[in-house]
Amino acid sequence: MSQIEISTSLAIYKSNSQNARVLTENFVAHHGFCPSCGSSLLQTPNNSQAKDFTCSKCDEEFELKAKSSKIGKKIVNGAYDSLFNRVIGQNNLNLYALHYNKREMVVENLLIVPRYFFVTDLIEKRPPLSANARRAGWVGCNILISKVPEIGKIFYIKDRKIINPNNILQEWKKTSFLQEAKSLESRGWLLDTLNCVERIGQDEFNLDQIYAFEAELKQKHPENNHIKDKLRQQLQFLRDKGLIEFIGRGQYRKIPNG
Ligand SMILES: [Zn+2]
Repeated sequence: MSQIEISTSLAIYKSNSQNARVLTENFVAHHGFCPSCGSSLLQTPNNSQAKDFTCSKCDEEFELKAKSSKIGKKIVNGAYDSLFNRVIGQNNLNLYALHYNKREMVVENLLIVPRYFFVTDLIEKRPPLSANARRAGWVGCNILISKVPEIGKIFYIKDRKIINPNNILQEWKKTSFLQEAKSLESRGWLLDTLNCVERIGQDEFNLDQIYAFEAELKQKHPENNHIKDKLRQQLQFLRDKGLIEFIGRGQYRKIPNG
């Protein structure tokens, strides 16, 4: 059996969505592993809310969202309140996003977004369910995966290709300093800066290119009157953490993987 093939032996339910959930969970339980310590995953009982897996060795916890279409810009999630509270409580789960091909039953893409990439910007409120719905008034949400910097999407399988486990562990290590941020706000600034650096789209860039985002960031943080200082401070932090280097005279360079 190929490494990306989804075993269908557990498809014993009448409901297609229930089968899809069981099969994709089974796939991740066997092919996934903890990106923090490399240990195997344990499936959690079905009633443990969002949590689908725990690491067999460390404290990491995981949720899986699977779909038979491209992962795209957003992923439908459960209740708005519970995710929002988890995020502001800095108590979120790592998110596995899996895209599978329904006809061939193979995994096209599997990635993980580490829990510390979650900020409230990523949560989009959906309209409440209508009055005649079974759960009238219930408010769900979407996770805006498009707002996660690329460095926060760690692939296990990319376009059907299996990624070397060592790379996955290395990718996790590279950004795990984000969990040390003292507040959600300070983590948010680091993520904003990472997004700006990625949006410039060059390996080398200068301060002016970063400052070009000042107006946009001012809108997002109207209380901050020193956006440029803040950005420079974030760049310094990213340098200390080995993500970028200063090459002099307001010039910076991204440090490549490996
Ligand atoms: Zn672990």
